[in-house]
Amino acid sequence: MNIYNEVKGAASIGISGHERPDGDCVGSVMGLYLYLKKACPEARVQVLLEKPADIFSCIQGIEEIHTNCTGDEVFDVFIALDAAKDRLGQAKECFDKAAKTINIDHHVTNSGCGDVNYIVPGASSTSELIYDVIEDKTLLDQEIAKALYIGIIHDTGVFQYSNTAPSTLRTAAELISYGFDFTELIEKTFYEKTYIQNQILGRALLESILFMEGKCVVSMVDKKTMNFYRAQPHDLDGIVSQLRVTKGVECAIFMYQTNTLEYKVSLRSGGSVDVAKVAEFFGGGGHTRAAGATMRGTFHDIVNNLSDRIAEQMREKQ
Ligand code: AMP
Ligand code: MN
Ligand code: MN
Repeated sequence: MNIYNEVKGAASIGISGHERPDGDCVGSVMGLYLYLKKACPEARVQVLLEKPADIFSCIQGIEEIHTNCTGDEVFDVFIALDAAKDRLGQAKECFDKAAKTINIDHHVTNSGCGDVNYIVPGASSTSELIYDVIEDKTLLDQEIAKALYIGIIHDTGVFQYSNTAPSTLRTAAELISYGFDFTELIEKTFYEKTYIQNQILGRALLESILFMEGKCVVSMVDKKTMNFYRAQPHDLDGIVSQLRVTKGVECAIFMYQTNTLEYKVSLRSGGSVDVAKVAEFFGGGGHTRAAGATMRGTFHDIVNNLSDRIAEQMREKQ
């Protein structure tokens, strides 16, 4: 795909990504936004997205994001990144109203919801895909490179996860040639944790439970605890990855309460369990080794339901 050819001539272009935007979502949306503003100076280009976490304030133009989407805005072209339209929140209505829609994503569970789709399930990140669809690399600059680099490091765990491919490292090599301080970027946006984040991580690890003979681990944070620490959902990022690296653990489950009898569930796998399949069964989605869903029921119901699907896969493998 050459994104410029797809949007050429449009007077208005909207860009959005999924709710509770992560680093790849923010990086890909902002990288594409900064590029399209340069490539299509005549067009009205707008980002409609939930407010990103403070760590992303280093990205140029982040304050220009429209965080209060009403769903009434009408665009000639609307682009959904890092998700299918069902995860766009209010912006889904703008997607449905647009004359032309484009979907760029790397989730295996997304079959493409746009008039034009660029879905590459094996790709490290949507940010890497944005680098690919910008054919005219002469318009790239340090700020675009920085945004895309943030997206790649977040979705690969700083080039650690198995989704890191030779193409990912080549793209990253091109991006750092623009000369931003990538060491600081990695520390400030990926590794640095606030005191509250560390406290809640400690608590989640302390209360975690091993099951299925040590092959699975689960932990949960309820609303009361989140209120006590004044924690936001993004303060819980990284907890599930820390649970997953417990020796012997194949599959980690972390959940936090979003409502009465409702939890946001995160799943991580060492590779032997396809957690995208597990999440999809419960209406969510994701990747083979990292997936999520929103589930209803008590903590114990949810763990039981997830365990059944996980155990089934483990039995099949034996
Ligand atoms: P999380 O555990 O929320 O960090 O999500 C892990 C991966 O699964 C990310 O790539 C998410 O974008 C994806 N994911 C999480 N929740 C859902 C969902 N409800 N539907 C589709 N994909 C999801
Ligand atoms: Mn994402
Ligand atoms: Mn992603």
